[in-house]
Amino acid sequence: MTSDPWLRAGRATPAELDACTNPTVTWLGHASVVVELGGVRVMTDPALTDRVAHLRRHHRLDVGALDAPHVLLISHVHMDHLHVPSLRLLGPGVPLIVPAGAAGFLRRRGFRHVRETAAGRTTQVGHLTIETVPAAHSGRRGPHSRMSVDAVGYVLRAPGGSVYFPGDTDLFPEMAALDDIDVALFPIGGWGPTVGEGHLDPRRAVEATGLVQPGLVVPIHWGTYSPVRLRRGAPGWLGDPARRFRSEMEGAGLADRLRVLQPGGTLRLPAPEGRTPPAARPAPSTAGRLRPDRPDAP
Ligand SMILES: [Zn+2]
Repeated sequence: MTSDPWLRAGRATPAELDACTNPTVTWLGHASVVVELGGVRVMTDPALTDRVAHLRRHHRLDVGALDAPHVLLISHVHMDHLHVPSLRLLGPGVPLIVPAGAAGFLRRRGFRHVRETAAGRTTQVGHLTIETVPAAHSGRRGPHSRMSVDAVGYVLRAPGGSVYFPGDTDLFPEMAALDDIDVALFPIGGWGPTVGEGHLDPRRAVEATGLVQPGLVVPIHWGTYSPVRLRRGAPGWLGDPARRFRSEMEGAGLADRLRVLQPGGTLRLPAPEGRTPPAARPAPSTAGRLRPDRPDAP
């Protein structure tokens, strides 16, 4: 077995290749999603701990029970998306794809396999193509940090389907150019009763649905964290974004596309008709190899 984790990530076992025909999307809470597609298990923006900065989690997560991700995607450097304690739970050897300018921060913290990307670039991991797309969101890490890198989103494509993970974003014109998206993971809230500039709220997430025209929408970035200074139990507004999003989607005649998951919930996608599972096709000569569009940054 190869010791290169990127190569390993692209060498799916037969069981993992079955996931190509029935890809799954599991929402772990906040913007943390596990997508199994093309035989590759991807995790986005891991925020897995009971506390994240000044926030408290309301759905306990048994991290030890999760299957190890092959690749992690980071959309931007805010504390609740680039969360080092959560990354440490997944280990220093896990391959990470991060926005350009964020790799040094992670390497200095012991993460050994970090690749940078930027909007317009594509990374291939086995049968899975990871397209980096723009996002309209602040690139600053926080008020006490000078770190600032452009926020991005990702589109994952494999013969079994396609999934759009926007990270945090507001509406942006290029959204309309994202075509052939089977599942969009639109953020609809945050960690407080309202969201600020640079985010989608339930109404704008409906507009995003109109722009992208995904087959299905799974709302994320809601119902998971609230500030610790508030009372201990889950605040009453925690479920509001999903309720509002459902009624806005119904009002727009889009309710048939909505799939609301609770943290830990999984959506299993049907095998699209006319798509041949990769396992049944001759493997391309470069199968199982990562083909970054440029050498790894130093
Ligand atoms: Zn953010």
